Formats: sequence, C-alpha cells, structure tokens
Amino acid sequence: MARRFLFSLVAGFWLLTSNSASAEDYLQAEGYALENGLQLLLKPTAEHQHVSIRLIVSVGFDNFSCADKELPHLLEHMLFSGIDQHDEIDLEARMQALGGEWNAYTRDTDTTFVIEAPAKNQRAVLDLLLATLTQSQFTEKKLEAAKKVIEHENGGHYSDLQRLIDQQNLSREANQQLAVELGLACVEKNNVNHLSLAQVEQLQSDWYAPNNMTLIVVGGLDPRLPAYLDRQYGAIPAHDLPQAIELPQVSREAQPRRELITRLVGENASLHWIFPEPWVGDNDYEVWELLSDYIDWKLYETLRIERNLSYGPSSERNVFGSTSFFSLNGTLERGDLDAALSALHELVDGLKRDGLDEKTFLRLQAAAVAKQQWGVQGNSAIADYYWGSLADYDNGRFADPAKRLAKVSFKQANTALQQLLEQPGYIRIEKPLLTANGLYFGLAAMAGLFLLAFFVGRLSKGSS
Ligand SMILES: [Zn+2]
Repeated sequence: MARRFLFSLVAGFWLLTSNSASAEDYLQAEGYALENGLQLLLKPTAEHQHVSIRLIVSVGFDNFSCADKELPHLLEHMLFSGIDQHDEIDLEARMQALGGEWNAYTRDTDTTFVIEAPAKNQRAVLDLLLATLTQSQFTEKKLEAAKKVIEHENGGHYSDLQRLIDQQNLSREANQQLAVELGLACVEKNNVNHLSLAQVEQLQSDWYAPNNMTLIVVGGLDPRLPAYLDRQYGAIPAHDLPQAIELPQVSREAQPRRELITRLVGENASLHWIFPEPWVGDNDYEVWELLSDYIDWKLYETLRIERNLSYGPSSERNVFGSTSFFSLNGTLERGDLDAALSALHELVDGLKRDGLDEKTFLRLQAAAVAKQQWGVQGNSAIADYYWGSLADYDNGRFADPAKRLAKVSFKQANTALQQLLEQPGYIRIEKPLLTANGLYFGLAAMAGLFLLAFFVGRLSKGSS
C-alpha cells in the first residue's frame, strides 16, 4: 500500500512538472498499470482547460459467434440506461451538469467510452463513468429499449424478408459480400431479437475486468489524478478472462466476378476489384498504406482525369476475420461500366508490367511522412491516436509512424504490389436492378397487357 501511495505521489509530481517539450511530443506518454491490471495512459498537454478520456474495454464483435455478435453493442447501450434506480435521462443530465459529452463505440476488437470534459471536472466525470460501469442496473424494460435503438441503427427490425434477402446474397456492400462468400463474415445481418438479459450480464462479468481495460486521459491533468485513479479505479476487482474465440479463416471459394443488386431502380453503379493482401513482413501496415496512396493517385489520374468516368475513385483497405483486403473502387454512371472496367484492367496490367513509378512513389511517401507532423492535433485527436495505436506503445513512447513510413523502401513496396496483383482478385459490380428507362418500359408493357386482357375480356363477353 505504501509503495502504491509513493507511486501515485511520484506520478502526480510528474504531471505537475512535466515540461512543455514532452507536452508537445504527442508520441511520449506516461503509461503504467494499477495493481488490478488496469492500464493507464496519461498525457498532459498545453490545452489544459479540457480533458479527453477514452476507456477501452477489450471486447468487441470478434469475441462472439454470428448469432450473438450484437451482444457487446447491446451491453454498450445498456450501460447508458441509468445508474441504480435512475434512468437514462438522469444519467445524461448528470453528465451535462459536469459540462461533459460522452459516447461509446463497439468495434471488432473493443468497446470504447469516449468523453470530452472540462479539466476542472475530470475526477467527477471519471466517477460518473465508473458508476455506469459498476452500478448500472439492467431490467427487461431497459433491454427492450436498447434493442429497439440498435435495430434502428442497423436499419430497422430484422424481418423474415430481410433474412431471406441476406441469405440470397442480395443488398450487401461489395467488400462485405466477398467476406461472406469466403466464410469470413456472417451470412445474416446482426440480429438482437433473441439476446437475453442473462447473456448481457454474463458478458459484463466475463469481460469488463480492469485487467482487460485501458484508460487514456489527455489534456489538463489534475496532479491528484494518479492518486484518485489508484483509489477509485484501482478498487475494481480483477479476474481471469474467458478464452477468446478464433477469428474466421477463409473456408469457402468465392466467384471471381459477381453483379450485386443494390436497389430497384437507378442509374448509378459501382465497381470494385478486391485482392487479399499478402503479408509482406516488416512494416506491413505502412507498405499497404503507402500503396493505397499510390493507387488512389493512379485511379484518380486514370478514371477521373484521363477518362472522366468516375468522380471519386479510391482504394480501400478492409479487415474481415483473419484476412485483410485491398480494393480498387469507383462509383460511376451505369452506362460507363464496361469502359471503366477496361480502364481498370489497363491500369492493373500496366502496374504488373512496369511496377511503381519511383518518382511518384517517393513523392507520395514524403507527403505521407510530412502529414504525420500535423495529422494529430488537439487533446481529442491525441487520445484517439493512442486508442488506435495501443499495440505500438512501449516504454513511455508510441512508435513514430513517420519513421516507419520513411523506412519502407521503393523495392519493398514494388515487390508487395506485384504479389498483390499476381492474384486474380475478385470483381464485384453493384448496380440497381433496373434503369429508369427499363422501369418505364416494364410498366408500359404491363399496362399494355392489362389493356389487352381487358379488351379480350369484353370481346369474349360480347360474343357470348
Ligand atoms: Zn449503437
């Protein structure tokens, strides 16, 4: 206990005396764990009237099988449904009274509570957050209300018709559709109907352990904060975590080319050429980010400037289960689909034949490195950066993204691109079922048939 007190004192002193040089250097942050395993990341900054708080609980959609995928999202909503006997309105009013704003996000690997608040109320705000985590009382009524909100967020009640549409592989985004075909994503859209209160409570007691959480506080830190955190957050009991389930692997084959129906009528279409990203070793993430910049540039040059086919063509990177994908995408007029597809083939063939243009690659790499100097500004952006880069934190510092980007050699990027494009990839075309003309023609034909039936009916009546 004496040791803990001493540590809090030292950490508090550090927050008080931390010089402005380290306040400027956002990659440097004080990180340590409480005895119950809660990881803390504290960063004093010059923007001292305000604090940005992120509480990251390492449980997300990936921890559940298809049927129960929405559980962590449901719990996230339930945690805003009120403390003790009070309701959601009371909870919101308490946060308003402290001048703060909060929200929460459920992602594949985590559920994160995001708070912006005046620095002077930081301990009161953290008290309120702790109370929502430890004193929320769940009822069937609150469960039903949370389910309704999630259904609304997911685009409405999950009906039998929607289930049928999902099973027929209609109306899904191209990347998601490919992931379903390969066995990396769930066939049916996430459904909350059947989830029970007992399941939500089980998830909370299983995964909401301090040894599964990281608390980030950035901004005008109260020197008493470390002692406060030790006393309050340090009192949550730790426990063993359940075994994580395995991420889905590619388990089925997908068609090389498919057309997907987005809606009934329309003139727009989109084109997607999707490739699984091979693992390229050191700085894998940075290699693909730089190639994404390069392909963005080439798509813009080819599809938009030279051929005027697509307004905002772009590359995209997505992760499904254990696999990441790299895609070339463009939204177009439906009539331009064939021209765009052949332009895309020419572009890919050119890249396979000639590789990257060294001058262009180095220019884009220098721009990506330069962007790191101004890309993360303000408490909120720094806190978000820490949230997204926890794996890069070691011994008081986050790995410098600029250095890692600069380390990628032209040769490494070129080889990675060749490995990517030597695969055939998957082409997905999204378009509405009918064009407006097609619809008018269909309606006119139907009207004609009705008229014909009407006259034939009258004629046969007249002759009988
Ligand atoms: Zn939600």
